[in-house]
Formats: sequence, C-alpha cells, structure tokens
Amino acid sequence: MSHDNVPFLDLVTVHRELQDELVEVMKTALNTAGFIGGPMVKQFEEDFARFCDAQLCIGVGSGTDALRFALIAAGVKAGDIVVTVPNTFIATTEAISQAGAHPDFVDIDERTYALDSEKLRAYLEQACERDPQTNQVRHKASGRPVTAVVPVHLYGQTADMDPIMELAESYGLKVIEDACQAQGAEYFSKKENRWRKAGSIGHVAAFSFYPGKNLGACGEAGAITTNDEQVAHTCRLLREHGQSKKYYHDIEGYNGRLDAIQAGFLSVKLQHLSRWNGQRRECAERYNKLFAGSENKITLPHQPDWARSVFHLYVVRVEDRAGLQKRLDEVGVATGVHYPIALHLTKAYEGLGFKPGDFPIAEKAADHIVSLPMFPGLTADQQKRVVTEVLKALA
Ligand SMILES: *Cc1c(COP(=O)(O)O)cnc(C)c1O
Repeated sequence: MSHDNVPFLDLVTVHRELQDELVEVMKTALNTAGFIGGPMVKQFEEDFARFCDAQLCIGVGSGTDALRFALIAAGVKAGDIVVTVPNTFIATTEAISQAGAHPDFVDIDERTYALDSEKLRAYLEQACERDPQTNQVRHKASGRPVTAVVPVHLYGQTADMDPIMELAESYGLKVIEDACQAQGAEYFSKKENRWRKAGSIGHVAAFSFYPGKNLGACGEAGAITTNDEQVAHTCRLLREHGQSKKYYHDIEGYNGRLDAIQAGFLSVKLQHLSRWNGQRRECAERYNKLFAGSENKITLPHQPDWARSVFHLYVVRVEDRAGLQKRLDEVGVATGVHYPIALHLTKAYEGLGFKPGDFPIAEKAADHIVSLPMFPGLTADQQKRVVTEVLKALA
C-alpha cells in the first residue's frame, strides 16, 4: 500500500514534459534579444483571443495589471463604486482601489460561490438611486456613482452571467469579468441560446497566468480580452506608459507589459490547455463518484446546467474544516483554503467599515471550504487515497 504524499499541485512534471519546446522559446529570445514586445507577444495575443472567442487580447504583466487596466479602460473613474464579491483573491479589490474607485460587495450564491445576481439587483434597487439629472445610478448613503461590476469566475466556473449582463444594461454598468481562474470555462447563455467562453461575455475580461493557474506562465503574466477596440486601445496605452508611439505619451500609464519569453511559453502551453482542462474535469468527476453517498458529511462542488467548469480548484465544504485539514496534513494529503477570510473582514479593508454578518453566505463559506488536490496528472490512485483519508477524518 502506497503512502506517498499527495501534493496539492504538481507544477514540475508538466514543465519537464514540455522542456524542449520551452527551451526553444528561450533560445529564440536570446538569439534575437526580443525580450519586450515583438512577434511572440503578438502571436500569443492572437492565439489567446481565438481561444476565448474574443476579438482582441492585450498581454500584460499579471492578472492584477489586467484587472486594473480593464477597469480604467472600461471607464471607471476616481470616486466611483465598483461592486464585486467578498470571496475572491484580494487582487480583485486591489485593482478597483488602484483604479481610484471604491470596492463595494454583494453576497454570493451558496452553492456556486459566485455573485448572486438577486443580491446585485437588491443592492441596485435598495441601496442605490438614479440621479434625476443624469439618470446615473448612485449609492444613496455615499452619493458615489456606481459604474461597474466585477463578477469573479471562481474556482474555474463562471458566474451566472445572463442576469448580471441584464442588470448591468438596465443600470448602465460596465461588466469586467475576473476570469483569472477560468481560462476555458464556458457559460450557457439562455438569452443567446449558446455556450460562451469566459472572457467573451462582459465588456472586458481579465486573466492571470500566474504559474498555478490552469494556463500558467513560468513567471508573472496576464491578459485582457475584449471586443471593444477603444477599450483595447486604452489597455495597450496603459500597459506601456501611455505611449502611442515611443516617447509620445497620450496619457500616464504603467509598466505592465507581457514579457516576450512568457508569451512564448504561454503559446506553447496554450496548445495543451483544452486537454489539461479535460483532465481536470475527469478528476472532478472521479472525486464526485468516490464521494457519492457521503453528501451528508461533505458538500461537493455544484455545477449548474449552465456551467462547464474547468475546475481550477475542487472545493468542498465540511463542518470541521480545521480538524479535517489537520488529519489530512498528518497523513500527507495537501489541502488549501480559497479563501479563509472574506475580504470585507480582512485587515486591509478595516477602513471600509464592514462588520461580521454583512455578507453571511460568503463568511460561512470562508469558514467551511477546503480545496482538495486538483491538477492535470493527478492519478486515480492519488484521488482514491485523498477520498479515503477525507472520509476517515469525517467518520
Ligand atoms: C490569481 C488571481 C488574480 C491575480 O492574478 P495575478 O496574476 O496573481 O496578479 C486576480 N483574481 C483572481 C480571482 C485570481 O485568482
């Protein structure tokens, strides 16, 4: 009987398998000194736009850059409110603040962990009013305009986008998809009667290629997708000091370019992404089967019929999370928590004045969720071992 440790994520094997192709990318960059911009960046932007069914892609330095530039380019201004969910990585709200706006939150759906569009509706109808002059929505208590919403496609599954897009349209909000965990995820739009790719649904979308994401660089990288040429143009300016051509600065921008070497690595890895996402789905199905019958002790991920998740993470819910993690740690099964503290209660946001109980669904999730090992290449035996140990711990 094998008692090999089960890692949470294996980033070594995949890079070993692709080593020759990745080294070729390095050689091309070294032989041409093409480190910034150039054909490898352009190629990846084309490849990734196609993969997302989006017309345009702008490679940037990270997912955080992508979110920040997307928000600014979508028209978010200093002093605006941008609405998102409390159960996301802090980069989502950092980008909102760094765009000069104020993050505000609505609670999530208990089963999908994504933005609950009914809560967004309630927020817009009850906490907001329309300016009689401009008809713009503003937050009653603060008087600030509410100009955008950032649904987060958490754990590899999109938010329920139809109602979000509909609300955004009737309230004049821009929708910036945080697709950082959802490269390849699909959403069935009833309104359009077709499957749509994450990154092609909102006005603009942000992706991260942090190494642990479904599509990961060998370092930092990110991208923006959009069908809006004006938004794309502003993002291209923002990533490169506001330059429209060298030393001609139309606006102030940032240093937020995608490295040519990372773009080359990403193009190589993108060719395998659909297969890897398929392997993640198979792993998720196998977990579901192995856990079947134990749903009274463990809540499994919920995939509505409108979602095709790419299972960036496989997140379950248990009563005694600390106890389970301790037991699994002792027997060599690695786990994670994404994320342990809802953002409105995190120290950095003390100043926003939220208190426990403000977003009860997100808070409860934060206390009970645990992420089990999930990566392409996770074997059936490893999964059996994980499930056996989880069920032992919960018995
Ligand atoms: C990873 C991630 C980000 C940030 O991406 P970086 O590339 O690390 O800057 C933003 N939002 C979510 C939901 C993420 O998972």
